[in-house]
Amino acid sequence: MLVENIIFYLFIFILGTVMGSFVGAMTWRMHEGKDWVNGRSECERCHHKLGAIDLIPIVSYLLLKGKCRYCGKKISATALRLETGTGLAFLVSALLFPSMVAEKWVSPLTSSVLTAKPWTIAVFLVWLFALVIMMALYTYDKRWHILPDGLVWTLLGASVVYSLIYCLEIKSIGRTGWVGQIVPALAPLFGIYLIVFVLSQGKWIGFGDVKLCLALGFFLTWRQGLLVLFLANLLGSLSAVPKLRKHQVKMNTQIAFGPCLILATYIVALIGWTLRGLFVLV
Ligand SMILES: [Zn+2]
Repeated sequence: MLVENIIFYLFIFILGTVMGSFVGAMTWRMHEGKDWVNGRSECERCHHKLGAIDLIPIVSYLLLKGKCRYCGKKISATALRLETGTGLAFLVSALLFPSMVAEKWVSPLTSSVLTAKPWTIAVFLVWLFALVIMMALYTYDKRWHILPDGLVWTLLGASVVYSLIYCLEIKSIGRTGWVGQIVPALAPLFGIYLIVFVLSQGKWIGFGDVKLCLALGFFLTWRQGLLVLFLANLLGSLSAVPKLRKHQVKMNTQIAFGPCLILATYIVALIGWTLRGLFVLV
């Protein structure tokens, strides 16, 4: 069992790095207005089409020492960070998913998603798909300060399917129970951000963030929604501090908030159950 699990985790990590590479190419093509699914990858500097050997995640970057094979100019390290980051996001998901579903610690060495029930495997696959979209939104918002509608609606579709399978088939809470869980779960994120958006007439946050909150809410319970609200704002404040020190931003500069919401949701969805004790008094 142990060897099979290790091979599975290795496979999941490599799959993640390939998806990270895809996200890098896809977001850039979307921004350039090119066909973002079918187009061939090219160097961002000299626009030379890239061969298969240039497209091996992480390995190509290290072999080429971060330079384009054709024009010799530096390739941004974003690609490397994205490939490694998505690989790790996939790996950590695979390690923690059985514990998340069981809401207690399950050793990833002795049991993995591989041996789980079919619905758990299905919901895990939907989660991985959603992770790819979240990575794309993270990258796009960080780089260009926009959350493209196509990506947000795709994420919403994935999160609704995730929530339906998770609540109806794994937790067996029934349809009324599902509505009873989802409506309060959307309140702390979507509800509060919608109110802030309306009151500030779109000055404090963008409508993209409001739509993103709707999509992310379906991964959470209302308690987890509150945690994400807190954690995302904490991450946002922390990420602004070094920039403020270097005077790169002023107090009124807009900071991309989407990445904070996405990172917070990822963390809370996977390990939020460990913090149940925090809510004993709520
Ligand atoms: Zn080049």
